[in-house]
Amino acid sequence: MRVQVVIIGAGPAGLLLGQCLLREGIDAVVLESRTREHVLGRIRAGVLESGTVALLERVGVAERLHAEGLVHEGFDIAFAGGRTRIDLAGLTGKTVTVYGQTEITRDLMDARAAAGAKTLYEAQVLPEGFEGSKPTVRFVKDGKNHSIECDFIAGCDGFHGISRASVPAGALRTCERVYPFGWMGVLADTPPVSEELIYVSHERGFALCSQRSRTRSRYYVQCPLSEQVDEWPDERFWAELRRRLPEDAAAGLATGASIEKSIAPLRSFVAEPLSFGRLFLAGDAGHIVPPTGAKGLNLAASDVHYLAEGLISFYKEKSSSELECYSQKALARVWKAERFSWWMTKLLHRFPEEGDFGRRMQLAELEYISGSRAAQTALAENYVGLPY
Ligand SMILES: Cc1cc2nc3c(=O)[nH]c(=O)nc-3n(C[C@H](O)[C@H](O)[C@H](O)COP(=O)(O)OP(=O)(O)OC[C@H]3O[C@@H](n4cnc5c(N)ncnc54)[C@H](O)[C@@H]3O)c2cc1C
Repeated sequence: MRVQVVIIGAGPAGLLLGQCLLREGIDAVVLESRTREHVLGRIRAGVLESGTVALLERVGVAERLHAEGLVHEGFDIAFAGGRTRIDLAGLTGKTVTVYGQTEITRDLMDARAAAGAKTLYEAQVLPEGFEGSKPTVRFVKDGKNHSIECDFIAGCDGFHGISRASVPAGALRTCERVYPFGWMGVLADTPPVSEELIYVSHERGFALCSQRSRTRSRYYVQCPLSEQVDEWPDERFWAELRRRLPEDAAAGLATGASIEKSIAPLRSFVAEPLSFGRLFLAGDAGHIVPPTGAKGLNLAASDVHYLAEGLISFYKEKSSSELECYSQKALARVWKAERFSWWMTKLLHRFPEEGDFGRRMQLAELEYISGSRAAQTALAENYVGLPY
């Protein structure tokens, strides 16, 4: 079998790239190691930048997003018993849209199925030959060996995928920071405590009131990395969240049985460059951000934008110059989002080793942001997403 592009991974990056190429008549196959149900069951991101929404519109998969997604014009930061609203729309003229990663994934899967495009699930994949001009992807499915020859391989297989790991040692530089805490997250079919998101900096640690719809809430509390999910029965979670919220929000918090519960570790990571020969890394395969600024999924989308541009230009204009610039263009945006996510994480979490001085610096910065339109504008323009 031969195709133009093999995409490894059917997460948001892989499926979105597949959709961009499909629209241009470029022949691509998506290979995924897990089942379709497993991919759809992963509860992750939920806040989309306007650039991500625009990209989904351009490739024809935004109908349900516009019908069901919630447009947010701002969010609150709560600290020291009070709240500051960051007026995203007023400060930047832009908004964000709350629409779950699982829903985007479903829309992209449906679009591929409707077009008859090929996605192979439960495939154990090995990319080869991408240093030269004839890449091949070997894979095992249902106990049988297969191989696909292609022009390019797109490694969209997340942080633990095979693509980055297949690049020869020493060809990529990596930068990493692992944070000394995690996020305990609960998804519940309860109405969100507030119309907009609330980011909380509290003496007991960070908390976030997020949501997926008007009837489905997503809440997080900062927790030690040593803790396990089964140490967090629902009652403990709700009690801890309530302690960290401003009084009015705590009083209005609707609780209920969790429908998903997980602990996510926090990490900043970048691999450079994002290409090696005819292999291109996109999304979490090339970089990770802590979720504090809601940038992970949005960065996967901007990588796909640049990579699709390069591949389309290669096939339509017979030019490889855009592809050659892919890593440089994508990383320029990635590093700015890395900085913002690191800064938001540093501002809002308790870092036990930083003591009272660290806490006073956080509070001083939060007070400054509360009183400065310039500081709020800097925060807002990063939160809604820097231009592509
Ligand atoms: C617990 C958690 C919570 C998060 N919360 C947020 C949030 O609130 N906001 C936000 O913006 N971001 C969040 N993120 C980050 C966001 O979900 C990711 O940035 C986004 O999923 C990246 O998409 P991706 O397609 O690059 O990678 P992934 O979503 O990881 O998809 C990669 C795909 O490749 C597949 N794969 C892996 N290995 C192989 C292989 N060898 N062969 C074939 N396929 C393979 C995987 O099964 C997966 O389907 C969160 C991430 C996690 C883990």
